[in-house]
Amino acid sequence: MTTNEAMEKEMRQLIAGNWKMNGLAEEAAAIVGPLRSGANGLACDLLVCPPFTQIAPIAKILTGSAVAVGGQDCHTDEKGAHTGDISAAMLRDAGASWVILGHSERRQDHHESDALVHAKTKAAVAAGLTPIVCVGETEAQRAAGAQNDVVGGQLAGSLPAGFAGVVAYEPIWAIGTGKTATEADVAAMHLFIRETLVKLLGQTGGGIRILYGGSVRPANAGSLLAVPHVGGALVGGASLKSEEFLGIARAARV
Ligand code: PEP
Repeated sequence: MTTNEAMEKEMRQLIAGNWKMNGLAEEAAAIVGPLRSGANGLACDLLVCPPFTQIAPIAKILTGSAVAVGGQDCHTDEKGAHTGDISAAMLRDAGASWVILGHSERRQDHHESDALVHAKTKAAVAAGLTPIVCVGETEAQRAAGAQNDVVGGQLAGSLPAGFAGVVAYEPIWAIGTGKTATEADVAAMHLFIRETLVKLLGQTGGGIRILYGGSVRPANAGSLLAVPHVGGALVGGASLKSEEFLGIARAARV
């Protein structure tokens, strides 16, 4: 067995929920309540990333449980004149230990570049958060056979030296559409990402979890999570229903 294969075998999968701009106080509490006990005895790590306003109350509900809490974005600066923005230190202060960065919706809606994601990732690490850096191609880029160039460029541009967080591969055309990439496509891309991470980061790159994201549901989770180099799932829609989210978590590789 190679060092990379051994590292991969040791890895617990991570199932991360991205709530996006969903979750008022009452519904947020109703989603995470069942996760407290539901997380016991799972073979994977569990993380919920609610909107900023719900981080502190949810962190309180989940205190002492096996479920971690994360943010969905942070600013590059620690504090200052940035109206409406939230710093990594503020996420940490509110009870988050993780943060999603460079999600395709932020890259599209807020024109976030690889350079900006790189700076945010550095800020997150400096504040003690574990970053989940998202990459992924559009449908047109895949149709043109450019997916490896796109994802390779995003990894090279977004990950700072010494990166030791998590990467999420999310083909944009599979997010919230009900379409999922085929197992063969996921296998090919995750292998490419693993090789790229090793090239960029050396041995550390062999131990980084690479999540798959894009319309993951309990019904398709088992087959997607069994694909080599898949280190877990980043889940949007299905993370808003605790039973669906736990159903995905129960499908994690043992
Ligand atoms: C996401 O937004 O990260 C995502 C994967 O969404 P969905 O599961 O709804 O496709």
